[in-house]
Amino acid sequence: MSKRDYYDVLGVSKSASADEIKKAYRKLAIKYHPDKNPDDKAAEEKFKEAAEAYEVLSNPEKRQRYDQFGHAGAQGGFGGGYGGGGMNMEDIFSQFGDIFGGGSPFDSFFGGGGGRSGGRRTQRGSNLRIKVKLTLEEIAHGVEKKIKVNKQVVCDTCHGSGAKDKNSVQTCKTCGGTGSVRRVTNTILGQMQTTSTCPTCNGEGTTITSKCTSCHGDGIVRGEETISINIPAGVSEGMQLSMSGKGNAAPRGGIPGDLIILIEEIPHETLKREGSNVIYDLHVSFVDATLGTSIEIPTIDGKARIKLEPGTQGGKILRLKGKGIPEVNSYHKGDQLVQVNVWTPKTINNEERELLEKLRNSQNFKPNPGKNEKSFFERMKEYFE
Ligand SMILES: [Zn+2]
Ligand SMILES: [Zn+2]
Repeated sequence: MSKRDYYDVLGVSKSASADEIKKAYRKLAIKYHPDKNPDDKAAEEKFKEAAEAYEVLSNPEKRQRYDQFGHAGAQGGFGGGYGGGGMNMEDIFSQFGDIFGGGSPFDSFFGGGGGRSGGRRTQRGSNLRIKVKLTLEEIAHGVEKKIKVNKQVVCDTCHGSGAKDKNSVQTCKTCGGTGSVRRVTNTILGQMQTTSTCPTCNGEGTTITSKCTSCHGDGIVRGEETISINIPAGVSEGMQLSMSGKGNAAPRGGIPGDLIILIEEIPHETLKREGSNVIYDLHVSFVDATLGTSIEIPTIDGKARIKLEPGTQGGKILRLKGKGIPEVNSYHKGDQLVQVNVWTPKTINNEERELLEKLRNSQNFKPNPGKNEKSFFERMKEYFE
């Protein structure tokens, strides 16, 4: 993923002043603010992108490094956690203290207070991890799994409010419902205004006078949910899938966490997976190898019949095209490789011994490698080229 140029993101020129950068960012932050664009992923991305651009261009040192080295320069060395995934919402809202803080005309957009660091806070449920074991057939075809998950669910009695009834929810008296408190302190530089989370309601804006007896005011209880998980074909051991919002419910109507699904493979009895290919070890007697035969073998789609040519050598690899495993989110499908092993009996009876003794010195039963046959190395090379 290539990032957009930070100047382009904010719509300013390379020589823009600190003030111009600030103004440009304010405009974008208001336009794409999540409060104004609820559930709009595109707006959220724009919002984050602008915040990241501002983070760098508003800092003279970072801006200089960015001008010199581009995105790599801006990311390198400041630790701050912006590397890779960009800024998170907390970072962005805490940045607002600087640009919208203290009585700015933009306050009204952000629910009072100097930004989200003081704004109303909703809690987030924790992520939940589960393991799902899959057979090779399920991996090959994709599968829908219905799984009973033990987790925090919304309390049925109070519908997640945590209150006994409607009348027991009150606007917090300390913060007046804003979730944040302001403090004005006098310093030698003049009055400084700081905002912090309301200690009475923990930023929720409301307090509960009488708690729900089922959940003791949390709004969540331990419960079960049957979740249907669509697993795409081609997943592999150790892969993680994530279902947003299917994790633990959050206290008092907050945002639920995610469900993280860890894939485990159940080894197949006879087939071995090798990336998108499936390998089967076929053992045939030297009689079958010599005379040729037709044999039924297992595949991920059930039984299949394959033909062995007369004179098949041990070590030969047969390829069943498209009988392997699809790659995740791709149209490419692997093959089934059948490795032919010529099997030698360990015990034989007298009758068999007589027959074999007759063959021992027979003209065509003397090994003659190197003349017509390819070496193991050559066969492998052919396969993987
Ligand atoms: Zn309850
Ligand atoms: Zn409060």
